[in-house]
Amino acid sequence: MSKGPRELVREEILGLKGYAVPSAIGMVKLDAMENPYELPSALAAAMGERLAAVAVNRYPDPRAAGLKAALRKAMAVPDGLEVILGNGSDELIQIVSLALARPGAAVLSLEPSFVMYRLSALAAGMAYHGVALREDFSLDEAALLAAMERIRPALVWIAYPNNPSGNLFAREAILRIVAAAPGVVVVDEAYHAFSEGATLMGEAGRHPNLIVLRTVSKLGLAGLRLGLAAGAAPWIEQFEKLRPPYNVNALTAAAAEFLLGHLEVLEGQALRIVAERARLEGALDRMPALRRFPSSANFILVRVPDAPRAFEGLGSRGILVKSLHGSHPLLDHCLRLTVGTPEENTRVLEALASILAPPNA
Ligand code: PMP
Repeated sequence: MSKGPRELVREEILGLKGYAVPSAIGMVKLDAMENPYELPSALAAAMGERLAAVAVNRYPDPRAAGLKAALRKAMAVPDGLEVILGNGSDELIQIVSLALARPGAAVLSLEPSFVMYRLSALAAGMAYHGVALREDFSLDEAALLAAMERIRPALVWIAYPNNPSGNLFAREAILRIVAAAPGVVVVDEAYHAFSEGATLMGEAGRHPNLIVLRTVSKLGLAGLRLGLAAGAAPWIEQFEKLRPPYNVNALTAAAAEFLLGHLEVLEGQALRIVAERARLEGALDRMPALRRFPSSANFILVRVPDAPRAFEGLGSRGILVKSLHGSHPLLDHCLRLTVGTPEENTRVLEALASILAPPNA
């Protein structure tokens, strides 16, 4: 008899919980940091015409020169840097992890942060170490430097802004970490569109071990699955060897290249999201039962007295958010609210006000 998964799958994979995506059918979907705005219909129709002309009988252009040029311009990638494209930045997280997974190599990440750093390290067979953020989710620079000295990681992940906390770590601290790191530091700028220009992209040329990760997902194109890593050519050259051929499909490449030519539409939507974030923050701050954490992203982390109850209460009112309760001690009773349209945000605020109201009030 053949062996089954219990015997053949690697122990650390058997022990993993996969990345869970709950169903959101019929719900106000505020759990996944999507841009809530659709494309203007004229732009969607023009995109459709472009897509109709794509030769889907052929494999995609493996060099994707037009798309890369559009991305470099949209993301202000300095001339001296190379870029690699991924099927979402998720795929690039896997590729970088795989490339650096020498026997005994370690990965270091801050906690709590994006869960795929840990999952990809484990999938690649690397040792994973988390360094806790402070209670207010700021970076404990001394703790990170000490952990780097002890563990000598091949790879350090820093999300800037951080998910799920939403804050930006101090830029100078990140640069000191890059300078002290014995290996690669990837600064993941998935939420760049909402961080009022905060970026280390311009620094990547000055620090050969600094890689900057970006995605078009949060800019309104999550369905396309397209991410980019920018860094010094010798690194990108190695990562390219692990990129599955044709990982960015022809429809995605054509749609993204076309839409990046209309970047002002997507950036306009991002600005509306930033304005709504400020309105949400103000309203959340007027709810005494709740603690709101500062955000430079398109979501807001809040701590409520009873997160499972609030999550249920929101769900029963047709609103799906992300409950982080139980995922890390620093996230006790925390919910992450993606900023939606003004109407969606008003619904969340009304629902929270009613859930958090004292009994008999
Ligand atoms: N990095 C961070 C910090 C994220 O929060 C996410 C998505 N939640 C990603 C990367 C992955 O984004 P995508 O694969 O859609 O590019």
